Amino acid sequence: MIEFDNVTKQYSRDAYALRDISLTIQDGELIFLAGPSGAGKSTLLKMIAGIEKPTSGHVIVNGQDISKLKTGSLPYLRRKLGLILQDQKLLTDRSVLANVMLPLIVTGAASGEAESRACVALEKVGLLDKANALPLELSGGEQQRVAIARAIVNRPKIILADEPTAFLDRDNANKVLSALKAFQSAGVTCLISSHDEQFLDQADRVIYLSNGQISDSWTTGAAA
Ligand code: ADP
Ligand code: ADP
Repeated sequence: MIEFDNVTKQYSRDAYALRDISLTIQDGELIFLAGPSGAGKSTLLKMIAGIEKPTSGHVIVNGQDISKLKTGSLPYLRRKLGLILQDQKLLTDRSVLANVMLPLIVTGAASGEAESRACVALEKVGLLDKANALPLELSGGEQQRVAIARAIVNRPKIILADEPTAFLDRDNANKVLSALKAFQSAGVTCLISSHDEQFLDQADRVIYLSNGQISDSWTTGAAA
């Protein structure tokens, strides 16, 4: 479970990114975080990973208050999350497979084990046949699915995806969303931000942010 308890984030004296957000996300939910650019979506996602800290309030992930975690514990928290953030590019000088293996290699997995798990992850996003390609040989939509494979190779229970369909056409955006939804079917909580409203009906719940506040929130027909 993810809980925001009266969370406010101020980057500077007059700049509020989030104002007094209270929110509970249940395990296994697929949530779309909607709202215009600058509404606070990225900030909200980054707070769950401890990348940004609240100015006031608490963010609690699986019973743990993130703002109270020591800096040294943050890498451990992040390994339990699948992060698809905008500033995490694929490494262009190595293969798709090597990119997906990386999170396992840095945590000390043996290379054979890392390779077989990376292949499973690539298969889940429909790109096993591109394992030996270089990232720049893939289309934008395929690159985004490689980023998803890299994010889920540690088998996280929570996936946070910041604008994963930005810059994609409708067909490729749908493939990216289908890949994410397949993990939700396997019990993973998915929180996906998007300023694009055409996909919102695919979520269990939409949380609409504007000016750092939840201005609307609704459950959709996709909810069981
Ligand atoms: P969104 O993801 O919805 O586009 P963001 O969370 O990126 O929104 O930004 C929310 C607000 O916080 C914006 O006004 C943005 O300019 C501001 N902001 C975001 N990151 C920073 C930062 N590192 N320093 C100062 N202001 C920031
Ligand atoms: P793009 O338009 O981004 O180039 P395509 O839709 O043409 O992407 O697909 C590119 C490659 O990805 C093809 O080789 C296709 O077989 C493969 N592919 C796409 N989606 C899947 C999937 N769900 N499962 C398996 N392979 C897939």
